[in-house]
Amino acid sequence: MQDYFWAFLLLLISASGYSQAEVTTEELHDHIEFLTSKENQGRYPGGKINQVLVDYIASDFENSGLKPLSKNYLQKFKAELRVSDKTKKKPKVKTYNVVAVLEGNHPVLKNEYLVLGAHYDHLGHGGPSSKSDKLNTVHPGADDNASGTSALLEISERLAAHQSELKRSVIVIAFGAEEQGLLGSTYFVNNPPVFLEQIKLMINMDMVGRLN
Ligand SMILES: [Zn+2]
Repeated sequence: MQDYFWAFLLLLISASGYSQAEVTTEELHDHIEFLTSKENQGRYPGGKINQVLVDYIASDFENSGLKPLSKNYLQKFKAELRVSDKTKKKPKVKTYNVVAVLEGNHPVLKNEYLVLGAHYDHLGHGGPSSKSDKLNTVHPGADDNASGTSALLEISERLAAHQSELKRSVIVIAFGAEEQGLLGSTYFVNNPPVFLEQIKLMINMDMVGRLN
């Protein structure tokens, strides 16, 4: 009886470990549901909601077994927000990129990096870049770019589960304030945590939900 119990427990542990490393429709859906929820108000940069979003992404990286590249997962920067009225001053807010790394295993090639990225911010309630004619409504941004962010989280999880097979190191990054003029990615390139020469490839996922 006891033997069966332990065998069953082992099976459960290995089964749950296995399913977590897979990219599943259910998990993608859960991420998108969270990112596009009413509470997250269209993922506008700055403030408390932004903090909730970056905590969600950083916790997910951590749970998947990715390590921070600096002292934590957050790369803080100031974002100047777009304004419709060009004569008005642009408000500045504090926002973040969320950055994590998986170290490669090859003694030489691990010093080379591949970067996989997606921006997590969206337009909030609309504003200058909105295509909607409705003013002041929550823009959930399911495709732009909850789709890319969810893909980033799921691919990161799967890569982490296969870390022992990686030759080169992989940096994964969720960019902030993209809709305000590519501010997060610009900040990352101007303040890179590794030498830019070490980065050999960057794959960006923006609006991967409709594949058009
Ligand atoms: Zn986008």
